[in-house]
Amino acid sequence: MLTNRPRGTNDFLPGETEKWQYIEQAMRNICRTFGYKEIRTPIFEHTELFLRSVGDTSDIVEKEMYSFEDKAFRHLTLRPENTAGVVRAFLENRLYADPQPTKLYYIGPMFRYDQPQAGRYRQFNQFGVEVMGSNDPSVDGEVIALAAELFKGLGLKNLTVKINTVGCKDCRPNHSKNLKEYFSQYKDELCPTCQSRLERNPLRILDCKEEKCKEIAKGAPTTIEAACDNCKSHFAKVQKYLDMAGISYQVDTNLVRGLDYYTNTAFEIVVNTIGSAQNAVCGGGRYNGLLEQIGSTDMPGIGFAVGMERLLLTMKEQGIELSLEENPAVYIASLGEKAAEAAFGITHELRKRGIYAEKDYLSRSLKAQMKGADRLKVKYVVIIGDDELAKNALVVRNMADGSQEEVAIEEIVNYLEGRLKNV
Ligand code: ATP
Ligand code: MG
Repeated sequence: MLTNRPRGTNDFLPGETEKWQYIEQAMRNICRTFGYKEIRTPIFEHTELFLRSVGDTSDIVEKEMYSFEDKAFRHLTLRPENTAGVVRAFLENRLYADPQPTKLYYIGPMFRYDQPQAGRYRQFNQFGVEVMGSNDPSVDGEVIALAAELFKGLGLKNLTVKINTVGCKDCRPNHSKNLKEYFSQYKDELCPTCQSRLERNPLRILDCKEEKCKEIAKGAPTTIEAACDNCKSHFAKVQKYLDMAGISYQVDTNLVRGLDYYTNTAFEIVVNTIGSAQNAVCGGGRYNGLLEQIGSTDMPGIGFAVGMERLLLTMKEQGIELSLEENPAVYIASLGEKAAEAAFGITHELRKRGIYAEKDYLSRSLKAQMKGADRLKVKYVVIIGDDELAKNALVVRNMADGSQEEVAIEEIVNYLEGRLKNV
């Protein structure tokens, strides 16, 4: 149907959105203690930005971008990831002139023309951090630890932090050469995409999702073999910092990650419970060449992105129950026109004092309103009828024990506030 939501998108309804707010709050909290500040960049950017950064042999650029022309024929793309946008903003707003490093985080939607399935959507959300302006391995350690602590704090189990070094501009060509030699032996068995990658960027074959290619990749030469001394020592220090932070990890010598711009440290956090292709909840790495590639400032950077849908899915699979739906504290039931007006006034007054209050909006019978109040599991119901109003004695029912009290209308808000404070 034309009016259905587009394929690969989601509606998050009440009941679900509380969970989103909860994990977002956890993200904001951890960023606060680690000193990461929020950045908000546009949801679309010039297509050129992604071509220049993500790399033309990546899945994203090869097949996943939502690109369009606007009315003035500009080539724009809905952001498939946000490192490029954050780096662009860092350069454009001259944040490099501030004391370094610059530690940023973002939360928001990304768009990829992916094959929709559980944990894989066309509009999905990422939480990510980016640190620019320092190549110190303690930053790598900090960034990985931030992600790991976030997940631990949310109660996730069976997490594996996988790390690798993908080399720098000096040693990566050696690695590419080794890989090209190795994969050339299996050229005919590789998928068509990887056959073309063989010429253009053999490193990308290591990230292919095809079973056959994955099998062949198992025997590929490792990045460590080709790494220069600088990269080796950087990698050793990152591991030392992770040890110090008490973060356990595995070195996965075939880990290269989906985007072309990574250098040195690459990492992923995978959960061992979900299906094989969708099990990465977090991916990231260092991108020391990216700033120069996008602008003209040669500054190092590192970051990661967490797939928030996958995170929630994983939490659900692990039985992490978040019962976050809040019930109103008070229901104002009314019968009669005057009583309904009084109900509006009292409800509003309670809300102004920060008390979650509900009322009837459908002129229902008192019995129906009481039933509704019961369903909402409120603590108190105020019953206003025209008689009660005339006597200025509203009835307050304590739903916990069924006891009732009469309270004057001028007193009702103070009365409820006092009672609710004592709960
Ligand atoms: P994959 O190999 O699963 O396609 P990727 O390498 O494309 O992942 P990244 O670009 O590193 O993923 O994005 C970081 C995280 O964002 C992933 O680990 C994942 O949790 C999430 N993610 C990526 N693509 C999608 C998607 N289409 N739907 C939902 N989450 C996604
Ligand atoms: Mg992908």
